[in-house]
Amino acid sequence: MRVICLRYIVVTGGVMSGLGKGITAASIGRLLMNKGYRVTAIKIDPYINIDAGLMSPFQHGEVYVLKDGGEVDLDLGNYERFLDIELTRDHNITTGKVYSTVIEKERRGEYLGKTVQIIPHITDEIKRRIRQVSRTGGSEICLIEVGGTVGDIESMPFLEAMRQLKYEESGNIFFVHVTLAPMTSDGEQKTKPTQHSVKEMRELGLQPDMIVVRCKKPLLPETKAKIAHFCDVPIEAVISGHDSDDIYRVPLQLEAEGLTRYIMKAMRLFPLEERRDWYDLVQRMDAVREKVSMALVGKYTSGSQCTDPMKDAYLSIREALKHAGIEAGAMPEISWIDAEDLERLQPERVLKDFDGILVPGGFGVRGTEGKMNAIRYAREKGIPYLGICFGMQLAVIEFARNVCGLEGASSTEFGETPHPVIALLPEQEKVRQMGATMRLGNYPAHLLEGTLAHRIYGTTEIVERHRHRYEVNPAYIEILEKRGLLFSGRNGDLMEIMEIPGHPFFFACQFHPEMRSRPGRPSPPFLAFVEAMKAQRLRRAGSTCTLELTA
Ligand code: GLN
Repeated sequence: MRVICLRYIVVTGGVMSGLGKGITAASIGRLLMNKGYRVTAIKIDPYINIDAGLMSPFQHGEVYVLKDGGEVDLDLGNYERFLDIELTRDHNITTGKVYSTVIEKERRGEYLGKTVQIIPHITDEIKRRIRQVSRTGGSEICLIEVGGTVGDIESMPFLEAMRQLKYEESGNIFFVHVTLAPMTSDGEQKTKPTQHSVKEMRELGLQPDMIVVRCKKPLLPETKAKIAHFCDVPIEAVISGHDSDDIYRVPLQLEAEGLTRYIMKAMRLFPLEERRDWYDLVQRMDAVREKVSMALVGKYTSGSQCTDPMKDAYLSIREALKHAGIEAGAMPEISWIDAEDLERLQPERVLKDFDGILVPGGFGVRGTEGKMNAIRYAREKGIPYLGICFGMQLAVIEFARNVCGLEGASSTEFGETPHPVIALLPEQEKVRQMGATMRLGNYPAHLLEGTLAHRIYGTTEIVERHRHRYEVNPAYIEILEKRGLLFSGRNGDLMEIMEIPGHPFFFACQFHPEMRSRPGRPSPPFLAFVEAMKAQRLRRAGSTCTLELTA
């Protein structure tokens, strides 16, 4: 058994937020993983919320769900996808979590009369959490991404904890600072914001070992030299983090910049192997020539049909579609359809040119009638449909109303209804608190043999991640199934998957398969959906041909 002393790589951000620090950190992790190391990641979010569960995806991007039910920042999804690992709620450290532990300890009298302070009590708790998580699962390298920007009041205790960690882990800790070099209209790359943010770090007792500079075009040698000179790092440690058309290309770019070589040398690491799978993946992605067009009908989309709005609100779905697209050799082109448009306009007008329709997870009544109009259109016109969580609940309601004739059928989430086909899970009835109280994380499901679900997964026992309060009301299963809907995946009394036999592809699930999709290992329902869209595209092309011939 090899024993490698644990190394920490701390990634901080300067100048402004939204620089892609998470992707940079995940890429660094992937590059070291390519060299044979076991890598894990911790995301620090300096907000007071305990977790991301109650945060609006509209403001913060999607809430990512982990196997243990942790509702966390979407960066953890990037870590899981880039590093092919499974994280836990403890891998996301927030101010809320740190303070609540310290306050509980104080109430138990564990501080023995001392004044409880940010230094050392809060910083000790931060370090305790980091050490505890990084040591589990045999990791050899632990990335620590400090959310926010250096200089924010919120992140001060975390940066102070990093300063202490630097001292305590001396030699085994490496600091990467991600900044921005804005470009003037005449193409000059400006270094002052980077200089200022490094100065700010120094005031906190920190000095970056490497600076990754985000910029529109590759960093010029003179820009690198200037940053190296003013920020006191060797020129090889100034890395160009120029824009890339796809995040999966970022590791390759950083590698070409010499990042891996530099970090490994600085941390006395040697290549244990040379994994090529990430390179192969990018190559396969580049080789995809075909496209399929699909509608993602959501509530968070702004305006009618935009090309790429709210991309973070549905990040894992986009990623899962990409994984499936690489595998199927046809990339889904997503049109974001505002559900409310489908309440005003004829679904035919909005949806006729798509090879598939997807309704993702969601909450609350706004936009639901529009989503159900889309689902009805997919069901009646034989267009491939993938429903996720809310997208399954609404498909059940639509079927109850329009096929079973249950007028006014609905979910109790939206108020009183004569036919509550979707109702609160029994375990939810006593729940009063909002945070972390849904049915969350991994649960198994049993698939019926010979169904679409069984074919898609190729097995009868699956495990997927969940995040919901409502479920299909068992009292309505019989009537729904009598009229042609099939619950092909179940967990006891809980309906996990529905499908409509005879339809080219109508598959909806109560769980979120997108959270377990990985580059190179696409989620089975997503892959099947993309394959079904390919078939639909051929059918559409066929029918246009026939029309042209008969004209
Ligand atoms: N609002 C629904 C529920 O709570 C669906 C949730 C979701 O789509 N994640 O059950």
